[in-house]
Amino acid sequence: RVVLGIESSCDETGAGLVRDGRLLGHAVASSMDEHARFGGVVPEIAARAHLHSFNPVVRQALDEAGLRLSDIGAVAVTTGPGLSGALHVGVAGAKTLAYSLGVPLYGVHHLAGHVAADTLEHGPLPDPCVVLIVSGGHTSLLLVRDLVRDPIVHLGDTVDDAAGECFDKVARVLGLPYPGGPAIDRTAREGDPAAVAFPRPLTGPRDDPYAFSFSGLKTAAARWAERYRLRGEEPPLADGAASLQEAVADVLTRKAVAACRAHGVGTLVVVGGVAANSRVRGLAEERCAAAGIELRVPPMRLCTDNGAMIAAVGDLLVRAGAEPAPADVSIDPSAPLEYAALHPVARQ
Ligand code: ATP
Ligand code: MG
Ligand code: FE
Repeated sequence: RVVLGIESSCDETGAGLVRDGRLLGHAVASSMDEHARFGGVVPEIAARAHLHSFNPVVRQALDEAGLRLSDIGAVAVTTGPGLSGALHVGVAGAKTLAYSLGVPLYGVHHLAGHVAADTLEHGPLPDPCVVLIVSGGHTSLLLVRDLVRDPIVHLGDTVDDAAGECFDKVARVLGLPYPGGPAIDRTAREGDPAAVAFPRPLTGPRDDPYAFSFSGLKTAAARWAERYRLRGEEPPLADGAASLQEAVADVLTRKAVAACRAHGVGTLVVVGGVAANSRVRGLAEERCAAAGIELRVPPMRLCTDNGAMIAAVGDLLVRAGAEPAPADVSIDPSAPLEYAALHPVARQ
């Protein structure tokens, strides 16, 4: 069966087509530019943009795959977490398609989508694996067994900001363009990662080994920039960006590798928008190689929000014989990540 996946939880409208674990085609439209002058995603603008992009994105994904609407055998859609207006557009569109085509509809957790993105490049996930989700809204270390059958175990989460949020907010303070994560990554290329000694939060011997905290880093970066500005100088942005990126990558990868070791797990999967960061990828590679751990990171285009990753979860659900969503399925803007789908597959 060909599964169409729809993603609309934030500012990306995504459609992807997956069959038997293989990506057939996908397309993403982003309203990012429309939010740039506000310095962050404006929910109403995002929802309107999804409405605008829904049909073209589905059409484009079908064209790329060389398929027609009638080839679609199931529809999967992000039901949460995310912005409610944005989620509603995707769910309404997915429902309309599913019922008019007479095919089942599946509700997917957005973060499970980020995890499943990796399977489109590297095949089925080993059971168990440790997953580090680092995105704009989440930073968590998870123990994942069978993604669509088993409950997802949270080893640790951020106690305040997400890593992506930290990059976005610091970029704003430094006067770098929106969105901040990619801007910090670019700016850091010319900088010295050892120039500024930013803190490594929650890495002390008494701290929770798998919890994260990034709001203090944001404050430290703001103070650092202020010290220069008070003297009428411009802060050396490349050094600041490189040092911040180093601090974030250091904490993320150190804890992720420690989690693998402590749980005797041989594979680390790093997913979400911040997995696109060059230093996070590089340091994860170094440390996993040193620890004898297999590292899996999806290709950059599948790290940030897209429909292919939602189709990937839908495809796993279809193949595992999951119960489709009821006709009155709705959104859950703050859905906790307990299971990958609204209706997980029962363990035999
Ligand atoms: P969530 O998945 O938690 O709901 P989201 O969907 O908004 O949040 P993603 O699309 O997964 O998040 O990721 C977006 C985040 O990734 C933003 O914070 C962005 O700054 C960050 N990001 C993207 N590319 C990079 C990069 N190269 N370096 C650092 N951060 C990056
Ligand atoms: Mg986005
Ligand atoms: Fe996301």
